[in-house]
Amino acid sequence: MMAKYTRLRGTTDFIPPQSEILRNTEEKIIKTIKNFGFREIITPILERKSLFTRSIGETTDIVEKEMFSFKDKGGREVVLRPEGTAPVVRAYVEEGIYGRQKFVRYFYRGSFFRYEKPQAGREREFRQIGVEVLGARNPYLDAEIIYLGDKILRKLAITDFTLELGSVGCLPDREKFVGKLKAALGNSIDSLCNDCRRRTEQNPLRIFDCKVEECRKLAENLPSLLDNLCNDCKNHLQKVENTLKELQVPYHLHPHLVRGLDYYTGITFEFQHNLLGAQNTILAGGRYDNLVEEIGGTYTPACGFALGLERILMAIKAEGKKISDGNEVQAFVCYVSEREFLPAFHLTQELREKGIASDLDYSGKNLKHQLKSANRVEAKYSLILGEDEIKKGKVLLKNMDTGEQKLLSKEEVIGIFKP
Ligand code: ATP
Ligand code: MG
Repeated sequence: MMAKYTRLRGTTDFIPPQSEILRNTEEKIIKTIKNFGFREIITPILERKSLFTRSIGETTDIVEKEMFSFKDKGGREVVLRPEGTAPVVRAYVEEGIYGRQKFVRYFYRGSFFRYEKPQAGREREFRQIGVEVLGARNPYLDAEIIYLGDKILRKLAITDFTLELGSVGCLPDREKFVGKLKAALGNSIDSLCNDCRRRTEQNPLRIFDCKVEECRKLAENLPSLLDNLCNDCKNHLQKVENTLKELQVPYHLHPHLVRGLDYYTGITFEFQHNLLGAQNTILAGGRYDNLVEEIGGTYTPACGFALGLERILMAIKAEGKKISDGNEVQAFVCYVSEREFLPAFHLTQELREKGIASDLDYSGKNLKHQLKSANRVEAKYSLILGEDEIKKGKVLLKNMDTGEQKLLSKEEVIGIFKP
């Protein structure tokens, strides 16, 4: 039957076990993040459009063409958040956190929205988990969050990836570099894509983030950002590199690592998965020392990253690794005939009361059918109640993996599930 209502393009329904795999992965990631001292911040999904146009940059893909923006009934220009850093910084400034607490570590999770052309690893609603450290300009921190990114992936058994490390320099560095870049581009501007040609005037660095093959090729031979850093930025990068070596995090230096957002200053990094094709960036971030000021706060250097949860799941799958769906049902209670339904019903509630996740089949069909249901929900044990069992005050426990059966008292059964 043709569905009358369909989900919007680029959005996903997560049905069990996929939904559970997603949540389980999310929980694992957050456990690692909390282990590094981060606390969760929750900000609205709806924000003012100006927050993003200002901070992400007018000439970025996100602002030029990807925002889900509309006017609300009060005539305000609003958007579904396309990324997580600007809202965190907005809250940090608006709630006056920087007046009370100079150094904070926050993480966030949730849905983000970009009007992109849907394809593998590119959705219109996608999920990110991100971390932000506000209040310090210490290269050890840059190294630490990169180390955290590496830890997150390894804890998920993801190993086939490369870490690209770069620096876009401070604002004066960038200004100087743009002059060099324009000169080096010269007549080649004509062979760039339309977007890049238009952007060359306002923001030529965007060419390094262009996904068009010709632009990519041309960009490879342009001057390196890393050769044009001031001493301060050069030293910062060097210290990050040294620390990564000490922490045994392998990396590759990238001469043009410009991210899709303009607010980065200094260190940038991307973890790219080797089996994911064009959409291979699974976790990425960098330093953004001027963003707090730009959003109206006092100078507060900061750094952070975001990971794309769907792409992380794709990476796990591509490597042939398995994530448990964390299915909770341990006991499936079965009744041999209608007469045992009520005792089975009450036994189920009693098990749940004791913290043992349980289920039973409401179809009223025979035992064979009920055992099939138990298999379908991947219950570890079935607890079978028949006339005989009721008479003896016992339960027949069936191990669903081995098929082994035992006649036990209720107390003994409960004992089996005790941790
Ligand atoms: P890309 O170059 O792949 O478009 P980006 O520079 O736009 O990435 P960020 O804004 O830094 O990416 O987002 C961080 C992470 O979020 C990305 O590395 C990716 O894993 C994920 N991500 C970004 N956009 C999407 C999307 N449309 N669908 C799924 N995941 C996404
Ligand atoms: Mg993008």
